[in-house]
Amino acid sequence: MKNLTGKKFGKLTVLKRTGTDKRGQAIWLCKCECGNTIETITNRLNMGKTKSCGCLALENKRKMHITHGKAHTKTTFLMKVMMLLVCGFMAVTMKPLELLQQFK
Ligand SMILES: [Zn+2]
Repeated sequence: MKNLTGKKFGKLTVLKRTGTDKRGQAIWLCKCECGNTIETITNRLNMGKTKSCGCLALENKRKMHITHGKAHTKTTFLMKVMMLLVCGFMAVTMKPLELLQQFK
């Protein structure tokens, strides 16, 4: 059985072996860069399936959310510009009509 103590996998550093799972695979206690500790098996570390305590996936989700948020603001900004243009156009076209009505 390979000793993974001290090895790094993504954000995780293997602290120590804590036991063996049902299939006979070593269970490792790993410390994540964010400070969390998790337990995972050799295979998951070697295959790159476990790279963080879960905060990495969360980080990616947040990033996606931010980009989505930006896109949203862009849309509302465009909407505002459109509204202003429409309002401006209305003001310009309405003015002469109002003036004409006043002359009647
Ligand atoms: Zn983490």
